[in-house]
Amino acid sequence: MSLLEISSFAAGTWIAPGAGARTIASAITGEPFATAGNNALDVQAMLDFARDTGGPALRKLTFHERAKMLKALAQALTARKQELYALSFNTGATQSDHLIDIDGGIGTMFVFASKGRREMPDGHVYLDGDVEQLSRNGTFLGQHVCTPLQGVAVHINAFNFPVWGMLEKLAPTLLAGVPAIVKPATNSCYVTELAVKIMLDSGILPAGALQLVSGGLGDMLDRLTCQDVVSFTGSADTALKLRQNPAIVENSVRFVAEQDSLNASILGPDAQPGTPEFDLFIKEVSREMTTKAGQKCTAIRRIIAPQAQVDAVIEALTARLSKTVIGDPRLETTRMGALVSNGQKADVLAKAEIIGQEAERVFGNPDDFEVDGADADKGAFVPPMLFHCADPDKASRVHDTEAFGPVSTVMGYRDLDHAVAIANRGQGSLVTSVITHDPAVARDVVMGAGAWHGRIYINNRDSMKESTGHGSPLPHMVHGGPGRAGGGEEMGGVRGVKHYMQRTAVQGSPEMLTRIGEKWVPGATEIQGPAHPFTRRFGELEIGETLHTASRTVTMDDIEHFAHFTGDTFYAHMDEDAAKRNPFFPGRVAHGYLLLSFAAGLFVEPNEGPVLANTGLDGLRFMKPVSAGDSIKVRLTVKKKTRRTDEYGEVRWHVTLTNQDDEMVAEYELLTMNAY
Ligand code: NDP
Repeated sequence: MSLLEISSFAAGTWIAPGAGARTIASAITGEPFATAGNNALDVQAMLDFARDTGGPALRKLTFHERAKMLKALAQALTARKQELYALSFNTGATQSDHLIDIDGGIGTMFVFASKGRREMPDGHVYLDGDVEQLSRNGTFLGQHVCTPLQGVAVHINAFNFPVWGMLEKLAPTLLAGVPAIVKPATNSCYVTELAVKIMLDSGILPAGALQLVSGGLGDMLDRLTCQDVVSFTGSADTALKLRQNPAIVENSVRFVAEQDSLNASILGPDAQPGTPEFDLFIKEVSREMTTKAGQKCTAIRRIIAPQAQVDAVIEALTARLSKTVIGDPRLETTRMGALVSNGQKADVLAKAEIIGQEAERVFGNPDDFEVDGADADKGAFVPPMLFHCADPDKASRVHDTEAFGPVSTVMGYRDLDHAVAIANRGQGSLVTSVITHDPAVARDVVMGAGAWHGRIYINNRDSMKESTGHGSPLPHMVHGGPGRAGGGEEMGGVRGVKHYMQRTAVQGSPEMLTRIGEKWVPGATEIQGPAHPFTRRFGELEIGETLHTASRTVTMDDIEHFAHFTGDTFYAHMDEDAAKRNPFFPGRVAHGYLLLSFAAGLFVEPNEGPVLANTGLDGLRFMKPVSAGDSIKVRLTVKKKTRRTDEYGEVRWHVTLTNQDDEMVAEYELLTMNAY
């Protein structure tokens, strides 16, 4: 049978395997079925194509335009996901594993598309945090801004998630405006290749935005500069080797690593057998052990249970694991497929041997287990293997050996401090979970273990129906961990996008900051529009366009009327003596809400027009009380505009209320939806 040729996509051309190509075997049969790699790949041309063609094209687009592109890519992948499923069985993955890898990857892209639209501007500069006041009179200010790196992101991915592993890095990279060169692990690169083909075929991406290396990277890393990023997922050994590359060290190339992790799950002291938490714990642990045949960076490797419950945990896990049907992943009855390769199987068995030096095997014999529909000796099958370590304090290997398969070790703890100490023996992990119904237990775990783990997952009877699972990294939340886990961070919403951008502290006058950030800063020019701003359409309004209203005197009758009309007869508005006793007030004062209502009355243009709705108000501050006899006036300025659809957009107005002495009384941002 001829081997499937897995190509690279370099500088706009598909390059078939050539000299130095590696053979890839099916996880199910162990038979070679594909080949990938070509020593003649021109890596410099790839870097140039990304830097000179892909980067400039992406940077021309706004965050919103790039977000829309992500959504369209996710839709293109969705339309052809059956093809991805069909191919991916060869990696040993079952249909439910595909849902994590393929659907999970596409879902991640959709989330970034939506976050890009909702949380990032329809512009080119991302403002990081608020304006910093650097001078007494506000003529010199500071603002952190993020702009896209001008190089290329090299993504080196692990074999276990050929689709999700690519998309979770690609989505934030493209959203940032940076082109990517994706290098999947060779063992499963054929699935990634198809996903890349689908994305390129869709014609959505500008040329140079996405390239693919199937097989070896050659000397690409030697050619990286300070504008490039390496984002790596795989073994700690490879990460150590790659991050020491002289070009990476000399040029301070960003190196994001997500590597080995001895994740733990703690059964809370309150979660006795018979409680919903105990059953949930058993379910989560066995699911984490067997999903993707345990080849998950977040899988539970260490099961930490109260000493008194260790036997019950082993018994319950054994009962559940023994029901795991192992077999050809294409069979509907199969619950656990194969490891990715026989090389990986040998590695898992060797690591299980090492763990076995400190722990007793209580379930799973790799020399004696059933495999449905495939040859156990030829395919990369192993059974789930459960160990019990009686003395986790003395042991070391159980805390530092990651058997990247369905292998996990139960260990007992004396008290919660001990449980936390055991969890932290992993020297930095991606995720630790605690299954408890006691918030005090959860808090102690977060305080004791937070510094050692990138994510803490808490679950119990209240959240279990909707919880997403210990092992699922979510695009909204950071994925990564300290120490052994690599010290990197990915995803986490917009945080993940910033890994591909440079944060720069920009200092200057309000006018400069306004023009750079496309967001009005107090002190910058106020533009006098041709008409009342509420009569102007979204597209017509300019940043800085300002309305100054007439003033209105607040009377005691107004305060009385408002109090009785709304029912807000709080003493500060109604009782002169009581108000005077309050250190904040000179006597009876106007309600803050009365001032807001008067402000609206002053600035509003009542006729039907382009303002469609008032959608909210942000950052409201009352600075100075207003007494009867004082007068207020309003300044209303277009601060920021965000297009939402082709029909309307959001206008953020800067609103300040001042009194007769020009002292600031209140300040806030008003949000309206305006017709385009
Ligand atoms: P590797 O570290 O061997 O490979 C990871 C990636 O690095 C692959 O794309 C690989 O490509 C690439 N790579 C390897 N050497 C080089 C090099 N010299 N230059 C450039 N790229 C290189 O990890 P695997 O994916 O093979 O998994 C092995 C082990 O890693 C697992 O058994 C597990 O212990 C751990 N792992 C941990 C994960 C985690 O997040 N905790 C995730 C996945 C794996 P190629 O395949 O072509 O060699």
